[in-house]
Amino acid sequence: MKLFTLALCLAVCVSAFGQKQKANPNKQSVIQSVDKHQSELINLSDQIWAFAETALNEHKSAKLLADYAEAQGFKVTRGVAGMPTAFIAEYGSGKPVIGIMGEYDALPGISQKAQPTRDPLLAGGGGHGCGHNLFGAGSLGAAVAVKELMQAGKIKGTLRFYGTPAEEAVGGKIYMAREGLFNDLDVCLDWHPDTEIAASTQSSQAMVDFIVEFKGKAAHAAGDPWNGRSAVDGLEAFTDGVNMLREHVRPSVRMHYAIVAGGDVPNVVPEYAKIWMWVRDSKRSGVEDVFARVKEIAQGAAIIAGVESKLTIQTGDYELLVNRKGAEALQKNLEILGPITYTPEEITFAKKIQEVQGGTQTGLDGTIHALKETAENPPGGSTDVGDISWIVPEITLVATTAPANTAWHGWSVVACGGMSIGHKGMAHAAKSLGMTMIDLFENEQLRKDIRAEFEQRRGGHVYKAYIPDGPPPIPAMK
Ligand SMILES: [Zn+2]
Repeated sequence: MKLFTLALCLAVCVSAFGQKQKANPNKQSVIQSVDKHQSELINLSDQIWAFAETALNEHKSAKLLADYAEAQGFKVTRGVAGMPTAFIAEYGSGKPVIGIMGEYDALPGISQKAQPTRDPLLAGGGGHGCGHNLFGAGSLGAAVAVKELMQAGKIKGTLRFYGTPAEEAVGGKIYMAREGLFNDLDVCLDWHPDTEIAASTQSSQAMVDFIVEFKGKAAHAAGDPWNGRSAVDGLEAFTDGVNMLREHVRPSVRMHYAIVAGGDVPNVVPEYAKIWMWVRDSKRSGVEDVFARVKEIAQGAAIIAGVESKLTIQTGDYELLVNRKGAEALQKNLEILGPITYTPEEITFAKKIQEVQGGTQTGLDGTIHALKETAENPPGGSTDVGDISWIVPEITLVATTAPANTAWHGWSVVACGGMSIGHKGMAHAAKSLGMTMIDLFENEQLRKDIRAEFEQRRGGHVYKAYIPDGPPPIPAMK
């Protein structure tokens, strides 16, 4: 009894003086587990980094993670939601059900060696310029650590790892969401590689991704142009209309397009043209307002050019619904865990990249950032994690895997993700997410508070995936 009182007093005294809090025994086990499996996790991440498979082509990457989960005792279901590279790994049974997501798709064209100057590993090949190799392996590392505690009988419930493909294009999570695969979760977690460590309280942009096709009538451009109807005229009238619209949208709106087909030769009136476009705004409702105008512009452009137009939605993301209660729980664990420390070689590596890219040479930021207020308009960028956050409360971590002042979705992020800077961020993420999962399994009141905030923010909105009917657009096997 005396000992207990002394221990209690010590704990209270330490926290009263603001000193570092200690992890409870289950959280200590999580930290030890990630350390124990560190070389395996690095191996998984490095292999996925080298595969550098793009959206829905992640066959080797998904297999690697799914096989590892299976070897660790998870029940693995492969090829979910019609995507061969999507899978779910589950352990345990009953309530609560806690999920964690992992990604593993790369970006085309930014292949890079793990070195601080530009040099592709494979000319023209893909690269992990968003660090998803670390994202997948790190989340699975957290899941394995928590699973070991379940196996030892220290935690009860169901643990689920979601292998989510094609974040950079298509939006694999949206197809998984449409199948209802997240519906029975109490809370879901994810993280993203970044230039700082923080429990994220920021949203992301909502967006819609669509194409507009114009169909006219070919004719000799000099001989009988009066018999022709130019699809390119339709496309040009469309972009004119969109660019006039820019003046009359809110500053938070972003519209960008690429002309995919615009005729072949000048001396034939083009019969086909195609444009690929995204509309983004801070909220889904804002996207829908602008998108309604853009649809009318497509119809008007077709009338102007005397051609037909067809608009097809490809995909779309919701904005991320922030959950502050969840972020606060994660923040406490980040503070227990403390910062990432770097070797002089790692700092030199980061500064070299910053020098090459013309950024300020600040090195690496391994500190734990304080919880921020949620900005009214999120920074630029969208994610299919946004969709999940409208189905289940979502807790999002960002962790340092690259230096600031360099181009994201660029070769510098690829370089750091294939060496110790990225590995350290991944291990740190696995630990803090695993520790937060312990809180979620152990603390019913925390789950209730997170759910109450989620319901209040969601305000009765019924989730509807922004994708066309039918199966996901699986590319032909290479
Ligand atoms: Zn990403």
